[in-house]
Amino acid sequence: MQNGLLDSLRRLSDADLVAGVKGLVARERVATAELVAHLAELDTRDVHLREGYSSLFVYCRDALGLSEAEAYTRIEVARAARRFPKILDMLAAGSVSLTAARLLAPHLTPANHREVLESARGKRKTEVEVIVAKLAPRPDVPASVRRLAAPAPRVLDLAAPLAPTPAPECAPASGPVEPIAISAPPIRPAAVAPLAPDRYKLQVTISGGTLEKLRAAQDMLGHAVPSADEAAIIDRALSALLVELSRKRFAATSRPRASCGPKPGARRPSAEVKRAVWRRDLGRCAFVGPGGHRCDARRFVEFHHVDPYALGGEASVDQIQLRCRRHNDYEGRLYFGRRRRGELVPEQVEPRDAPNVRSRPAARPEGSGPTRAPEDPGSRRTAT
Ligand SMILES: [Zn+2]
Repeated sequence: MQNGLLDSLRRLSDADLVAGVKGLVARERVATAELVAHLAELDTRDVHLREGYSSLFVYCRDALGLSEAEAYTRIEVARAARRFPKILDMLAAGSVSLTAARLLAPHLTPANHREVLESARGKRKTEVEVIVAKLAPRPDVPASVRRLAAPAPRVLDLAAPLAPTPAPECAPASGPVEPIAISAPPIRPAAVAPLAPDRYKLQVTISGGTLEKLRAAQDMLGHAVPSADEAAIIDRALSALLVELSRKRFAATSRPRASCGPKPGARRPSAEVKRAVWRRDLGRCAFVGPGGHRCDARRFVEFHHVDPYALGGEASVDQIQLRCRRHNDYEGRLYFGRRRRGELVPEQVEPRDAPNVRSRPAARPEGSGPTRAPEDPGSRRTAT
């Protein structure tokens, strides 16, 4: 189809081609304004949470396929447009760009928004940045002169194409580099880079002491890992570290007794249950939307009763899952909202009534709020 389109465009006159471009730009502006308006409304609902995304940003990126920058800009402008709908009109008319609106958004107030938006009419990004600088002056940037490391000479060894080649940390990959630069931020290569499905390159700089630990582990694992493969050693080390961290994190307030398990009727999960749940869910939100998308957010996760405690849900490994703060709140609001409206009373709840999760154990909320681990710094309720 696109080949056919290109063929047909080649036959257009210049005037028709320009008219077509102008028409498309106008349509794109209108579509952008409408998209921003839709996002503004979506932002007031729980749609993204229900679908298994921890934020509107993650939903825009992963479900709608926007780039990070596209998602960020549109959401910022959408939130501003909810307060100042004039932005939508100006976007649709092409009077301000999305970028300009995003730059201005944090500085708009009910008192100044008309004047500020008008002052940005038709302005380019650099001109809008001048307007922002007037609205919110910032202190001077101190001058800095730093010596950057010269790149190590790179020798391409064709006999060993897979051997790791140290990348220069602070300079472009090729060419001679002036060792003195003014305020030039160091260029850090990506620490983790995907190579192939389920294969990643991890590049780290370690101290001599860490290297000694790695060598010692390789020696001690000589029978289990005869190849002394660093990746296998690191995997074992991280597995042991996760066990250790979960043990420390969830042992402080409970007396862990390996044999006791969850007490019938116990509301709060025991430390043993917390450790097992944390390891099983890999410390991530286990909420799964109806389309099968798992949230997987890592920040501010809480322990969540699959079956509300009020309905007899036990604090057992099967009945506890990790949730991010937003999904815990979301499920709590669903439960309490329905109960307040008289649509749901505990005695009537059946597993099939779970509002969101089909492919996992029912994801109904805990009847009386999330069970959080006070010793877990990740459980603090801080905006994500
Ligand atoms: Zn979540």
